[in-house]
Amino acid sequence: MQLDLLQGVLKAVRTGIIVFDAEQRIILWNDWVEQHSRIVADDVLGKTFTDVFPDMIDSRTHVAISEALRNNFASLLSQTLNKAPFPLYSTPADAAAGMRMQQAVHVMPLHIPALPRHCLVQITDVSMAVSRERKLREQAVELQSQSLVDGLTGIANRRRFDLHLEQEFRNAKRNSTPLSLIMIDVDYFKNYNDNYGHQRGDGCLVQIASALERVLVRANDLVSRYGGEEFAAILPNTNEEGALRVAEALRAEVESLALAHACSGVADHVTISLGVSTLMPEPAAKTGNLIHAADRALYQAKHSGRNCVVVNACKPRA
Ligand code: GH3
Ligand code: MG
Ligand code: MG
Repeated sequence: MQLDLLQGVLKAVRTGIIVFDAEQRIILWNDWVEQHSRIVADDVLGKTFTDVFPDMIDSRTHVAISEALRNNFASLLSQTLNKAPFPLYSTPADAAAGMRMQQAVHVMPLHIPALPRHCLVQITDVSMAVSRERKLREQAVELQSQSLVDGLTGIANRRRFDLHLEQEFRNAKRNSTPLSLIMIDVDYFKNYNDNYGHQRGDGCLVQIASALERVLVRANDLVSRYGGEEFAAILPNTNEEGALRVAEALRAEVESLALAHACSGVADHVTISLGVSTLMPEPAAKTGNLIHAADRALYQAKHSGRNCVVVNACKPRA
């Protein structure tokens, strides 16, 4: 009765079970293995691992079986190293295409009273789990690429900057209103990282980002992380004079954080340099010109001693 029950279980389980004796002869090959290997038990019982799996001689699986028998070691074969060790197939179509199922393989010593040690090999089909995991990973990458938020600081990222600038540029043209851009760069930030470490550098960028955000209050103003230790502020419907005032407020707000910077060449605390430019929506105006002009202004601010604001007129260029 007990034997019948065990046989019934071995037939019904959705797991492959192979048992080897001390000489590595197969003494059990359950229905699941029959079904997925397309080899019936009668053809393999009594044969050795080497007879049945000539391609797997000295493979990790073979070594694991030898270790279980000889040294009583159990092992779980790593998925990353052995995706599909046994010639098993999830479906007949996969078998025809030679596409093996992805397997999780447990190799365990098996103790049977009055007999030398045996080895139990348990195989599960993890193809579904693996493909689900891959899909989730792909979705995560996709979502990240669609994200509009900077991962470190939580403010708008470069993608959002590009989209917002294009949108506000169109608005400026439609309404004949000025559009201003402020490019911002942290002073001597390489020195900050070198002196305090990258992690504190990151913390510093987070604090600067929220200080910049605090200053911008208009609904369509946008401060973003342009890249690395550079930020950019888009100010729709703002002329040069207004943008200059905002830039000075941004500079002062960061300075008031009073973040110690022992290796800055300009102060004993963290400071920023800012370049301002304003675009009047003439027919030849382009967003590229605005970015270029603000960048040049920032460059001049760096060369005028840093921790300051410089304005540069935006002229339409080819
Ligand atoms: P300058 O005043 O001329 O701008 O000098 P700088 O040192 O700030 O300029 P540079 O462009 O040489 O260095 C920028 C440094 O910013 C380099 C890099 O170590 C640091 N940096 C860029 N992105 C990150 C970031 O995400 N985290 C941290 N911690 N550091 C960053
Ligand atoms: Mg820089
Ligand atoms: Mg810098």
